[in-house]
This record gives sequence, C-alpha cells and structure tokens, in this order.
Amino acid sequence: MTAQKMPVIPPARTRVAPSPTGDPHVGTAYQAVFDLAWARATGGAFVLRIEDTDRAREVEGSEAQIYDCLDWLGLTPDEGPRTGGPVGPYRQSERLDLYRRYAEELVAAGHAYHCWCTPERLADLRAEQAAAKTAKTGYDRCCLGLTRDERARMPGFAETPVIRMLVPDDAPGEFTDLIRGDVKTPFPDDQVILKADGFPTYHLAVVVDDHLMGITTAVRGEEWISSTPKHLLLYRWLGWTPPAFAHMPLLRNADKSKISKRKNPAARLAWFREAGYLPEALVNFLELLAYPGVHPDTEVQTFAEFMGAFDWAKVNTTGPIFDLTKLDWLNGAHIRALADDDLAARIIAYWDETGQTFPATGRLDPARVVREAVPIMKERLTTLADAYPMIDFLLAPDDDLTLEDEALAGLPGDTTDALDAAVTALAGVDDFTAEAVQQALRTALVEGLSLKPKVAFAPVRVAITGRRVSPPLFESMAILGRDACLARLLALRAKTVVTPS
Ligand code: GLU
Repeated sequence: MTAQKMPVIPPARTRVAPSPTGDPHVGTAYQAVFDLAWARATGGAFVLRIEDTDRAREVEGSEAQIYDCLDWLGLTPDEGPRTGGPVGPYRQSERLDLYRRYAEELVAAGHAYHCWCTPERLADLRAEQAAAKTAKTGYDRCCLGLTRDERARMPGFAETPVIRMLVPDDAPGEFTDLIRGDVKTPFPDDQVILKADGFPTYHLAVVVDDHLMGITTAVRGEEWISSTPKHLLLYRWLGWTPPAFAHMPLLRNADKSKISKRKNPAARLAWFREAGYLPEALVNFLELLAYPGVHPDTEVQTFAEFMGAFDWAKVNTTGPIFDLTKLDWLNGAHIRALADDDLAARIIAYWDETGQTFPATGRLDPARVVREAVPIMKERLTTLADAYPMIDFLLAPDDDLTLEDEALAGLPGDTTDALDAAVTALAGVDDFTAEAVQQALRTALVEGLSLKPKVAFAPVRVAITGRRVSPPLFESMAILGRDACLARLLALRAKTVVTPS
C-alpha cells in the first residue's frame, strides 16, 4: 500500500460459506459477487468456507462444483480449502474439536446446558404447543439444571445429549445491519449449538469460524436475520467482537416465490454455463439484482466498475426478481463486446464442454469455420448455445444438407434456370469473397435473367443454407468456398428439377 493512498476503510475480510449439499445455488454466487467487491474495494480478502456439518445432506462432488463455479465466474476466493490460507482449515468438518471446546466452555460458564430429550419428546412438545396455541414456543428447558442421572429417570431420555444455549431475558432484540440499518429480531429460543453426533449447528460454527477467520463483514441471506441475536449472544459470552452483518435480499421468481433448485433450473449455478451464458454477463446480472447500475445510460458494466463504486447502503432490500430476459439482453451485449477471436474461442470451448458433435465431412475444421463465421453471428447471438444452430449448415456435408420443408415450399415452381445460371456464374469466380459472389450472382440472375433480387437469391439461399431465413448469404458462401457452394447448388437442382410429364 502506498503512503499517499491510505484507505479510509480498513481492509475487509468477507466469506461465502456454502454447504456442499448438491449443485451450487445461484445465491452463493450472488453473495460472492458482493463479498469479493467489498474485499477488493477495501484491499482485504475473500474467503471460501465449506459448511459441511450436516452430514445427512452432503452430496459427493458438490464441493468441487463450488470451486468450479466460482472460478468460472472469476470469483475465485483468496483463501479456502483448496487454496489454503493462514486461518484454516476451511472445512468445518475439520474443525470439530474447536466447536466442541467452545461449547464445553459455554457449559462451564453457565451459558449453555446439556439436553437429553429425544427427538420424539421434542416433536410431542411442538405439537402440544401448536395445539394449545401457546404464545411461548420453543424448548421447555426440561433438562435445565438436571444431572444426567436425574434426567435418565424421566421419560423421553436419549443417551447422547446435545448442548443448548441458555438464552437470558436480556437477549438482544435488535442489531444494526449494513444494508437495513436497525433491525428488530424475535426473542431467540434455547438453540442447540452442538448436536448429539458431535457436530456443531450452523449457529455455533458460524460464530467460531467468523471470529477465528477474522471475518469483518458477514454477508449472508436475509433468512438468517432472525438468528442474528443468537449469534450476538455467543459473541458476547465468548468475549468477541461481532463482525458487521449484511443480510442480502432473497432472490425471487417472477411470482415472488423464493428461488429454489426444485422449481427453477436457473437456481442451479451450473445451469448458466450449460445454457451458454458468459460468466461476465452473469456477474453483471447479479450485480444489478437489488443494486443500481454504475452507468446512467447502460446496465452493461464490468466487475471493476461495480467494485470501484461499491457501497452497502445502495443495496435495495426488496427481494429482486430473477428476470432471465434481462440476463439474455446483457449476455448479448457482452458477447458483442468480445473480440472476434475471443468469441470464437468461447464458442469452441462451449462445444467441447457440452459435447457438441459434428458431421464427418473430412474437409471442415470447425474452429476455422467458427472463427470466420463470428462476424455474421455476433450481432445475432443471445447465448453461446445459439451458435451451433445458427451455423450448422456451414458444418454440414454438402450432399447431405437438411433442407427445411418450409424453405422448399417457399421456392418458385421452377428454379432450374436460376440454379444453372448461379452455377455457371460462380464457377468463374476465383477470388471467392462475399463481394465477388454477390456481384457474380447479381449479374447472372438479376441482370441476366431479369429476376427480382428476392426471387433470384431465394433458391441460392435454400441450396446453400437449407433455410428460408439464414445468416447473411454471401458471407456464408465465402466461408464455405466455391466447391462447396457449387456442390450445394447442384444438389438442390437435382432435387427440384421439374421432370416433363
Ligand atoms: N451455510 C450457510 C448457508 O448456506 C451459510 C450462511 C452464512 O453465510 O452465514 O446458508
């Protein structure tokens, strides 16, 4: 850090803390965008912590997917299980001794107690409370103050106890959030902090880890607001300063429901990559969810621009609607901002990733075709997935091009003369550029046969592309080259020749 550029704000340490319970959720990336922006804006660090304490819900391979997705988006953490760092381990399952130690410490200090109630007893208790509509719900402190032997003589006893917080009457009822200002919270219950299997619950683990990992700003979903007083109590008891909290709004579907992987494919982070979105477009889209754009005239912006103007106070608390139409638009804009070589490389990489196969023509190098076709595709692409269907005719074998029924039906009755004239004219074009092709066809068909351009070029378009509507025709022909064009024109002629009856 240079002497003249001292930051006003101390370097922030932020973290994203997903659980490896399946395909990574888009909400993880959403939080990571804000985490990284704040860490970078203040010259701090962005940490990845894997919250793998719910062993029943763990899904094999999902941790690796979290790294892949964050890397793909350019949101690579500075510290984490894979990269390492000074305050690891970064996987909660490797920190169990720590949580146990602090839980025992809280018991010894009288802030927490053992509870031997069976799950059945707790379920009965909840049902009774619900039936009686009691104002005070939550655990009834049946085990509080009892020794194991005393409790064992009572019904609903489980061999292995959990540890619960002993929430005092003066538990915090509000806190100040970076985004929301002063937030009122419900009175907490005697939350379990250590489970019977020796694993911590989220509440203990998040406090211990955020403290020991030096997290200054805890960015998380708004569903954790009501848990914050429990965390503040733990900080108080352990004698630690809590981080600042930033509770992000929940992402919502168009019908305002919470985005879930069951209901919306776009809740799966990998879906965006599979669907051919650019990572920078998705990041741009996530930046704009509940947050104003940087530029007055366009919503297209870079992460550096977003980060440079970052301010928590600008986050809107109304759940942003996940509007994929806007993402489509942004994606198109980012595609057009790419250099042609870069776009071609991304299309090829996308085909590799999605296992795109090509007809064996023996003459075509898909990478060359894509590179040459970028100028005719760029304006028309919404996603990378649009590229193949747009130019598959360029990659097809000349004698086995699919001719759309609709395209054939739209042709005038007899196209023989036009196709013959086109073949003759093109056979004489040595320098097969789009301009030369256009000129030759114009001379032969429009002038030579006195056809209107629309009528003249329709059979040529169908012969070359198999379609009624296609990317620019003459440019496509130049990419194909003379031999392929002649072969295609002759193939259509053979198909459509009117045999005298
Ligand atoms: N594992 C928690 C979640 O995925 C983390 C919440 C937090 O960031 O504190 O919701």
